[in-house]
This record gives sequence, structure tokens and C-alpha cells, in this order.
Amino acid sequence: MSRRDVIVVGAGPAGLSAGAMLAEMGLDVLVLDEQQTPGGQIYRNVENAPEKRIDYFGPDYSNGLDLVKRFRNSNAAYESGATVWQAEHDGVVCYSKDGASKSIRANYIVVATGAMERPVPMPGWTLPGVMGAGAANALAKESGLSPATGVVLAGSGPLLLLEASLLLKKGVEVKAILDTTPALPSLSALGHGPQSIPGAKLMFKGLKVLKDIRKAGVPHYKGITNIRAIGEKRVERVTAKHKGKEISLGTDLLLVHFGVIPSTHMVRQMGCAMQWEPVGRYWQPSCDTWGRTNFEQVFVAGDGAGVTGAIAAALKGELIALEIGRCLGMLDTAARDKAAAPIRKAMMWDGFGRPFIDRLFAPNFDHSWFDNDTVICRCETVTIGDIRQVLAEGVRDVNEVKIITRCGMGPCQGRMCGPALAEVIGHELSRSPEEAGLLRVRPPLKPVPLEEIAAMDLGLDNDQTANWLLKK
Ligand SMILES: Cc1cc2nc3c(=O)[nH]c(=O)nc-3n(C[C@H](O)[C@H](O)[C@H](O)COP(=O)(O)OP(=O)(O)OC[C@H]3O[C@@H](n4cnc5c(N)ncnc54)[C@H](O)[C@@H]3O)c2cc1C
Repeated sequence: MSRRDVIVVGAGPAGLSAGAMLAEMGLDVLVLDEQQTPGGQIYRNVENAPEKRIDYFGPDYSNGLDLVKRFRNSNAAYESGATVWQAEHDGVVCYSKDGASKSIRANYIVVATGAMERPVPMPGWTLPGVMGAGAANALAKESGLSPATGVVLAGSGPLLLLEASLLLKKGVEVKAILDTTPALPSLSALGHGPQSIPGAKLMFKGLKVLKDIRKAGVPHYKGITNIRAIGEKRVERVTAKHKGKEISLGTDLLLVHFGVIPSTHMVRQMGCAMQWEPVGRYWQPSCDTWGRTNFEQVFVAGDGAGVTGAIAAALKGELIALEIGRCLGMLDTAARDKAAAPIRKAMMWDGFGRPFIDRLFAPNFDHSWFDNDTVICRCETVTIGDIRQVLAEGVRDVNEVKIITRCGMGPCQGRMCGPALAEVIGHELSRSPEEAGLLRVRPPLKPVPLEEIAAMDLGLDNDQTANWLLKK
């Protein structure tokens, strides 16, 4: 089995900048990504986007062109359409591409798998016609698709409002925004207001989005609760509560978004130490200031290490590249620190607005919205009622609940239900979701046909992978 210096998983801003810089230092680096083109979430398909699409998404999208170009011009090897389904902390990575799986090894792994939209179960969320606002954004970037009908958006967070303004820009009718953000900012957010002044650029961007929404005359209800999608075969109506009154809107497309959380399955599978982030209410890997986890060979770059946005993601990727470069003898400590200084400064400037934004849009949903029939685990059709029942019987930990109810045992590996399961347990038992624990991740990370694993060339030196396969 060939051995690379570094394998980077993910070709978003973090993976691209790490990959490019590592290759520029002369290291043998391979970047794997399941998408067909580099760019990740924010710069999805940017190098193939027609001018009209580039103009439509604006500089936040077109800025990705320079990064993709830098990456393409570096000597980094890149495999698109490559889904990593197993990663080990000693450097072994298994991935599937074009119907075949391969196992490779590297001295270092950089996990740059980004973030995902926070899944929040609510009545009717499994109906056709209910989808993530981020998914609508991805369809527009990938293929220029946009909805034709009157859309309702629900949830909270900057990306929800950004998506509403983008739809309006395309002339799509937005019937309403059902925003769970409180009408008045929390004291905790206000307390971080002055500190965010140097990050005013971010604030102005947000204000412009709000202005566009107001100008279009879209009803923007704040402090919304009890969102429900209602319909027989697909969503036909959305209801919610606003100041004690019910709002009811006919629609066949409900876009939901409740912020983003780090994608942590890969690092959890490797056994990386995790820590709870109380403002964002999510788990993230514990990393040092160079992005290194508790394992010497494993680094985490970008939103996968904690949600801080695309600019910070790319900068984090560069810091990791410098530290790996030092470890592999490409530069000494003084040169690493000198090169890192402007990167850290840029991160500081980029981060000024974050504490305010994070608190302003802190997760704000009440699990008492969920009736017993609401599905929590879409893969195994487990309902909130099933969870409440086992909790009433004395079960306390997410993994115990998983064993008894099968919640989190399906092919998505608890990506869609895990965070909500901890929230429901926390709500029902009046404690923090942190205390409910974190679902254990079982291989494979992503579904892969057994015949692909059986046909894998393990190689004679591949004891690690062989052992792993025998163990599982
Ligand atoms: C749905 C969504 C939409 C967003 N849209 C915007 C937006 O419009 N504007 C904005 O400012 N911010 C947006 N964000 C936030 C923004 O994407 C991030 O801040 C930024 O992209 C983080 O960069 P990253 O490199 O850490 O991760 P990402 O850009 O998410 O890149 C991660 C990459 O890892 C790959 N990957 C993950 N798992 C595997 C695996 N097992 N095998 C192989 N490859 C894998 C993915 O395909 C992806 O390309 C969005 C986030 C999400 C979740």
C-alpha cells in the first residue's frame, strides 16, 4: 500500500488551503472529496459556474475561484467523487470511488469535512416538500436550480436569511420567514455587541440581507414557536405560533434551517477527544492551536473543528499545513511561527463578529413542540414518543436509547437524529444535552456495498486494515 505524507479529507475552503500549502512545501498530499468538483459547501462547483451564477451569488462565492485556482496549480493530488468510509488515527483511510474501494495510508490525516445543517425534527419534517435551506442553496450552486413556487422559510440563523434574500433576488415568491430567533437580542448577545465592532463588515452584510427582505415586503415573523408541516402526500400547509396566535400558510415547499454544526463522525470514529460547545450546543473535537487532536497524526481543519465560517476555515487549513510542514522537516519552528503570525492576525480580525452572531442566533427551539408522533430517526422510523417511553423507564444515555429503540442505528449513522436525541433527553430530564452523551459511531462512516469491501486489495503490508476488517 502506498504511503503519502498527508491525506486531506474534504475539498472545501479548509481542505483546499491545507492541501495547496502542503503541496507548495513539496509534500506528497492527496485530497479526497465526495463532491465532483472542489469548493465544499460555500464554493460548491464554483469553477464551472457560468458568469450569471457567479454574479448572482456575489463575492462570497466568487472569492472561491482564487482558492480553487491556487489548489489546482499546486501539485496536490486530488480525487473527486471519493467517499471516505473509514479512517483510523494511525493514518489508514478507506474510500469508495466509481464502485471500487481502496485503502491508503499517510503519515498525517487532515480531516476537513466541514459542517452540516443542524437537523431539528418537527411535526411533518419527513414530508416531501420539506427540505434544508442549505440543500436549496446547494442545488442552485450545483445546477442553477431554484424553486418555482411560493416558498416558506422556517428556523433561524444567518444562512436562513441569506437564502431568503437569494431567492428574492431570483424573483422567487417568499411567502414568509418563520424565524425562531427572539424578537429582541438576548442580553448575552448584546454583551458581545461592542466587541464585534471591529467585525462590522459582517454586520453590514447581515443588515443588507435584512434590508432586501424588508424591501420585498416579505412577512418576517420573529419569536416563532410550534412549527408544523402539514399535508397528506406532501407538504401543503405550514403552521406556527407567533405571539400566541396561529399563523397558517399554504405552500408546497418549506425550507428549514436551524444553523450549522460540525460534521464530527470521522473524528469520533477515530476516537478523537470531543468537547461540548455550549453556545452553539454541539460537540467539536478538542484541538490545540495548530488544529492537532489528541492523536499526533490527526488534525482537524475548518468548520469540522467548530463553526467559524469559510474565511477562518481556509486560514485554519494553512496553520495546519505549516505545523505538518514543520513536523516533516520542511521548515523549522521559527519559520513556522513567522509564517503563522499574519494568518493568526487575519483569524483574529475575521473572528471579531462571531461571538455576537453566535449568541444572536443561538439555537432556540422548544422540544415541547414535538408531539409523540413526530419522527426523530428517519432511517429507523423511531418517534419522539418511543424516546419518551424509554426515558420514563429510566434510560438516560443516548447509546442506551439507541440500543433499545434503534434510534441512530440506520445508514445515516445518527447524523439526522443524534443531536436532536440528546436535546430531547436533555429537555425531558431537565438537564443539558451534553449530559446525554454522544452516539458511538460504527463503521462504515457512509454506506458502502459489501462486495466493494470484499473486493478490496488489502496488500500484504496492510495489517492494520486487515485487522480492522477482521475485528469488525
Ligand atoms: C449546507 C450548507 C450550506 C452553506 N452555505 C453557505 C453559504 O451560502 N454562505 C456562507 O457564507 N456559508 C455557507 N455555509 C457555511 C460554510 O459552508 C462553511 O463555513 C465553510 O464552507 C466551511 O468550510 P470547510 O472547508 O470547513 O467545509 P466544507 O466547505 O463543508 O467542505 C467539506 C468538504 O468535505 C467533504 N466531505 C465530507 N465528508 C466526506 C467524506 N466522508 N468523504 C469525502 N468527502 C467528504 C464534503 O463533500 C465537502 O466538500 C454553508 C454550510 C452548509 C452546511
